[in-house]
Amino acid sequence: MDVLPSDTAEIAREAARRRSFAIIAHPDAGKTTLTEKLLLRGGAIQLAGAVRAKGNARRTRSDWMKIEQDRGISVATSVMTFERDDIVFNLLDTPGHEDFSEDTYRTLTAVDAAVMVLDAAKGIEAQTRKLFEVCRLRDIPIVTFINKMDREAREPFDLMDEIEKTLALDVAPIAWPVGRATEFAGTYDLYERRFRPVDATDADAVTLTGPDDPRLAQMVGAERAKLLHDEAELALAGFPEFNLDRFREGTLTPVFFGSALRDFGVGHLLDGLARYAPPPRARASDSRMVEPGEAALTGFVFKVQANMDPNHRDRVAFVRLCSGKLTKGMRLRQVRTGKQVPVNAPLFFFAKDRQVAEEAWPGDVVGVANHGTLRIGDTLTEGEQLNFRGVPSFAPEILRSVRLEDPMLAKKLKTALSQLAEEGVVQLFRPFDGSPPIVGVVGQLQLDVLQSRLRVEYGVPAGFDASQWQIMRWITGDDRAAIDRFLDLNRRDTAEDHDGEVVALFGSDWRRKRAEEEFPMLKFHAVREQH
Ligand code: GDP
Repeated sequence: MDVLPSDTAEIAREAARRRSFAIIAHPDAGKTTLTEKLLLRGGAIQLAGAVRAKGNARRTRSDWMKIEQDRGISVATSVMTFERDDIVFNLLDTPGHEDFSEDTYRTLTAVDAAVMVLDAAKGIEAQTRKLFEVCRLRDIPIVTFINKMDREAREPFDLMDEIEKTLALDVAPIAWPVGRATEFAGTYDLYERRFRPVDATDADAVTLTGPDDPRLAQMVGAERAKLLHDEAELALAGFPEFNLDRFREGTLTPVFFGSALRDFGVGHLLDGLARYAPPPRARASDSRMVEPGEAALTGFVFKVQANMDPNHRDRVAFVRLCSGKLTKGMRLRQVRTGKQVPVNAPLFFFAKDRQVAEEAWPGDVVGVANHGTLRIGDTLTEGEQLNFRGVPSFAPEILRSVRLEDPMLAKKLKTALSQLAEEGVVQLFRPFDGSPPIVGVVGQLQLDVLQSRLRVEYGVPAGFDASQWQIMRWITGDDRAAIDRFLDLNRRDTAEDHDGEVVALFGSDWRRKRAEEEFPMLKFHAVREQH
């Protein structure tokens, strides 16, 4: 197909104004509150109340699954698009509960930047660190938002040091807090020398000559102004200057202080994202780098979700676009199988309602309804043979055998497990010795979801029994004969996963280590890239 130069110019222009990002945070740091405030700013929601939700009364946008309501946990990843000052933000929401970290990790393959939210009283927590490590693997640039500054908080220098030391990441403060806790008066932009008073709009920010500007003391009192004077100097001298290149290569994070609850610092953060966060970048595939401005469409599936809407029983594949332009009615090629996939009604997950999108651009995420053809990790193109890399699978931490209450349902169970495995809800391993399949999940909650979906959607009541295995690893090696030897020797403890890859199952970590010692020519992986 011939493409006019103006088309590629338009694609490049649209790509350049996209900012696709996720929020990473330990539960309770304020991700939901911040999401809501970001969406409000982008004018994206009438549904502020729907994002906001607490404790037992917690309602999420995605009340698709009953278990979400029962447990008060958002199981599904969704995408929220909003526009501000000509920048289109795609916020890819990630489930907060750690049991669903696999979904979260995969979502991080589809973003170009992340906002790391810290609770100012707690700093870096376990989940923050885990998620950060995934960002680091992928060199995702990170903007830090230190939240809850309206409450008792740790000292800013202390927090900055902690980020620097525990994450081995340079920190460049952009905004500095003026006053603390109940005395918190606002933030001061160290570079623009702008003071933003708390509970005022961004437009009310005042540009000062510096922390010594007498207007500051008038606004916040001499004591807080003096403190800022001392700290601003120290902060500028003690931390590296913000540097766009270093931020974009993932070695330096700009830091903003604020309070999501009081909607303070959120506009500043959004400005920072608009200004610093990268638009979609060239992405590596197995054959070449793909530039976002290219005329032909490419994208990959990072999530599959079934039954989101009881009226649409089909599955929806979440596709992140990497190049080109998507329009209604296109036919795309699923590279793995060579099949044509019609995209008659691409879906935007804009707020709560599915909307029929007219067009989508690099950086955008669209939903493609299908009957189970599309899998996590699939690449879609207009015909070119290329595969994007990097959508990971993680070795499950819980392995179980399935107990069927009614043996007559064995065949149905097989179909159900197979479909749920394709969706990424569960991992499935078929032992080579012919014994029944083993299911693997990252966390207990995922088992509950599996059980509920088997019963409700497939009419298969089932339970789970402890299995003799604790650990699973994918096996690779250049020497095929060595793999075969390993399989021969360990017939009872090896299996294939849903994609036909070979895995080893171990009863203990000691056994895993021993296998590694005995077969140094093989690699035992806890993470596998899907493609
Ligand atoms: P999530 O688990 O990360 O999504 O956290 P939430 O957004 O649900 O927030 C957890 C709790 O912290 C809630 O009670 C919020 O009201 C509270 N919270 C969030 N942001 C702030 C803030 O800036 N200041 C204060 N004081 N509380 C906050």
